[in-house]
Amino acid sequence: MATFEIAFLGTGSPLPNPDRCGAGQVVIAGDTHVMVDCGWGAARRLVPAGVLPSSIDTAIFTHMHTDHMTDFPDFLFQRWTWGATTPLRVYGPEGTAEMVEGFLLALRRDISFRQAHHGDKLHPDGIRCEVTEVPVPSRPERFLTVGGMTVEAFEVDHFPVVPAFGYRFGFDGRTAVLSGDTSFCESLLHASEGADMLVCEAMNVPMLQQRVLALRAAGREVQAGLFEDVPSYHIPTDEVAKLAKQAGVGELVLSHLIPPIPNEGPQVEEFVRGMNDLYGGNIRVAKDTERVPVTAAHRD
Ligand SMILES: [Zn+2]
Ligand SMILES: [Zn+2]
Repeated sequence: MATFEIAFLGTGSPLPNPDRCGAGQVVIAGDTHVMVDCGWGAARRLVPAGVLPSSIDTAIFTHMHTDHMTDFPDFLFQRWTWGATTPLRVYGPEGTAEMVEGFLLALRRDISFRQAHHGDKLHPDGIRCEVTEVPVPSRPERFLTVGGMTVEAFEVDHFPVVPAFGYRFGFDGRTAVLSGDTSFCESLLHASEGADMLVCEAMNVPMLQQRVLALRAAGREVQAGLFEDVPSYHIPTDEVAKLAKQAGVGELVLSHLIPPIPNEGPQVEEFVRGMNDLYGGNIRVAKDTERVPVTAAHRD
């Protein structure tokens, strides 16, 4: 069976955590490597995750939040210096072109410094990007086929971040859905129906509330107030489990954890508490640099 797996680069959120960087994944289908988001620290996870930066020719963004994009310039330089000779194809919602243009403008001087220093060892096309903004689809809609893998976009509810996308990947008879950032929405449920794997963001509300109380006790009223805004556009763990059950997904992988927790220890158990009462399938909490295969779900 052909390789179809997801390498997790960052499984955290904007909140600093030593174990979990900002959001980023690489979807690997045979020889094809597609990056999905590139939040803070994600680029440095590529090599430890066993992914050569130059093997990535396509990058896709879910939305324009910093924790999904600010390592993109580092990734571009890694890709270039690992030997890329072709432009990176970039896809994402409205705003993606402006973001890429802005990062390339910030890098402009260093690009010329590196070229002056290394000459033709660095291919001029390896640092270029070709951007395509994907129109908002009314239902999951294919916008890309790469290396035999199909990629469909669907809109999710991350208001006021509009548009925000999730993606559905099909390869070798298997399907994986990446939720992007979202609260519970019908479009995610619909896109996840029958998927072999759902990679979903997840927020543990009681654990987040503990952080709010701790900030308030420490006199950090502004931060506590900002944290209190978080739940309105993310999905609580119990709703993730209900959605996975309703959609009949084969396996559930949690990433983009809010609040971020250590890789090991009692907080991992606390984070997923009660989810298996609502969804009987396998629930995995992803870790940075972990690679998880998309396996065909066994259904009765
Ligand atoms: Zn996010
Ligand atoms: Zn977001």
